Amino acid sequence: MSAGENIKKLVSSLPAGTGLVAVSKFHTPEEILGAYRAGQRMFGESYVKELLAKYEALPRDIAWHFIGHLQTNKVRQIVPFVSLIESVDSARLVCEIQKQAFKAGRVVDTLLEIHVAKEESKTGFPLDDCTAFLESFDAAGYPNVRIRGLMTMASNTDDRAVVRDDFRRAADYFAFAKNRFFPSDDGFSVRSWGMSGDYLLALEEGSTLVRIGTKIFGPRS
Ligand SMILES: *Cc1c(COP(=O)(O)O)cnc(C)c1O
Repeated sequence: MSAGENIKKLVSSLPAGTGLVAVSKFHTPEEILGAYRAGQRMFGESYVKELLAKYEALPRDIAWHFIGHLQTNKVRQIVPFVSLIESVDSARLVCEIQKQAFKAGRVVDTLLEIHVAKEESKTGFPLDDCTAFLESFDAAGYPNVRIRGLMTMASNTDDRAVVRDDFRRAADYFAFAKNRFFPSDDGFSVRSWGMSGDYLLALEEGSTLVRIGTKIFGPRS
């Protein structure tokens, strides 16, 4: 099936109100256009260089999500147009986004990436570090950064109980963070979890935004 057909099938199967990010890393602008013509507008990329090339080549009404590890020295390149930076995992990065977003005259939406997976290698704030960051974060000093919620990746395993447990801890942490740090901010609402292999579990555990690549575009080469 084509990316466009996969998109239509996927969208019709998702619960109302669920956002779908089509993760297009390593796929060509032509493949992205196939999904675009099927109505998809949110696309996710993991590498700055690749995102810039695709941004230049593709329609301007695409909402680009940055989902990869972001180096502070590359923030400047994506801030003028990016729709959501999903992978914010340090105070330094937040400072740099504020600085560059101010220069660009934008308010940039972000998610804090949290680490709930069992593997050491995964990126993201350990939960205690995320809490420490939010305790120190003075929103008034960051008028050009808006924290819209949390993103996470589950452990890379076929053990569904482990994956569910990861998502559940993310959901519990979201509830805690919302209650403690954003009680009257309706904008803090996004729970970005779930990829091709685990998005159904993620939706059961409170996801509002799924990031799906392989199931739309096929395997990456
Ligand atoms: C690549 C990637 C995805 C999509 O993974 P699939 O298994 O192809 O659906 C989702 N989120 C992040 C952060 C990724 O890097």
